[in-house]
Amino acid sequence: MNNILDCSFAEFQSSIQELGESPFRADQIWQWIWQKRCADFSEMTNISKGLREKLGSIYSLHRPVVQVVKKSRDGTIKFLLRLEDGELIETVLIPEKDHYTQCISSQVGCALGCSFCSTAQMGLKRNMSSGEILGQVLVGLNYLDREKSSLPLRNIVYMGMGEPLLNWPRVRQSLEVLRDPRGLNFSYRRVTLSTVGIPGKLEEFAATGLASLAVSLHAPDQELRSRIMPKASALVSVDQLIDILTSLPLRPRQRITVEYVLIGGVNDEIKQARELNRLLSHLKAKINLIALNPAPEIDYLRPDQERILAFERYLWDKGQTVHLRKGKGCDIEAACGQLRKHSRKNEAGGQEPF
Ligand code: SF4
Repeated sequence: MNNILDCSFAEFQSSIQELGESPFRADQIWQWIWQKRCADFSEMTNISKGLREKLGSIYSLHRPVVQVVKKSRDGTIKFLLRLEDGELIETVLIPEKDHYTQCISSQVGCALGCSFCSTAQMGLKRNMSSGEILGQVLVGLNYLDREKSSLPLRNIVYMGMGEPLLNWPRVRQSLEVLRDPRGLNFSYRRVTLSTVGIPGKLEEFAATGLASLAVSLHAPDQELRSRIMPKASALVSVDQLIDILTSLPLRPRQRITVEYVLIGGVNDEIKQARELNRLLSHLKAKINLIALNPAPEIDYLRPDQERILAFERYLWDKGQTVHLRKGKGCDIEAACGQLRKHSRKNEAGGQEPF
């Protein structure tokens, strides 16, 4: 049975028409699913019992089940979620000054093997469906409602497990539902897709205008990038990547976010800050620096605070816009893949779906 969360609106609308219902019913049901976040067709009180029963015979309505919730001292909340087939994925709610940002996963594991990433060690298990991707957002929203949070969920970032552009058709569909006013109704400014840069898919994604773009660069030259991100850098060289990014159509005030994880003794020298500044000199970009969140399974260290600040200062002095992100949730294994790594598939338990 198809999970209704996996349908695009167009597919669902034509299925409603095949049932002899007016298109207006599709809008109503879509709002029940995404805005009222109902967990069962029986909750759709303004839909006839007959239609609810028909829907229940055609579709399931399955959301990821919360297996573990961990709350950090800094307010970061991490969820380990169990999918219908027992696979485990992660999503994180990150508190900001006046809102939460949710980091969501797009694949179970990842094929790209970046050397500083815990998810990489799982390899790729499978792509996530659009409904599984969006199910994380439903879990996040329901959790905040249940906790009566004073901070709303405002931003979504595709920066969790997996490379979103290697699961592009399903990620695209999830972005469409996120954006749809009948769906989850997030504007493109509130949604960011983070990618290592997959040629072809990058241009396709940018042409949709469905979300802002962040690129995981992490090294200013091909030699270093191929050492720490061997598979990603084999797909596109640093220079080719910058050429593609420079050619993308951007909105008037839009800038591409360039992500740079600072790894102690690897990519955190001023020499590399200088190369990074040169590389980005013609790109409408802002730089997100984040110090590595160390983990036992990763051979790298977080740089000293002094080095982090010196790197940031150099780039500011050269006129770059730099945001030094605070590493959050270090006490709850909040970096991508860390919590999943220490849990097992099909582990018994799990809580009620939020
Ligand atoms: S950093 Fe991102 S692309 Fe690289 S292995 Fe981890 S999840 Fe995959």
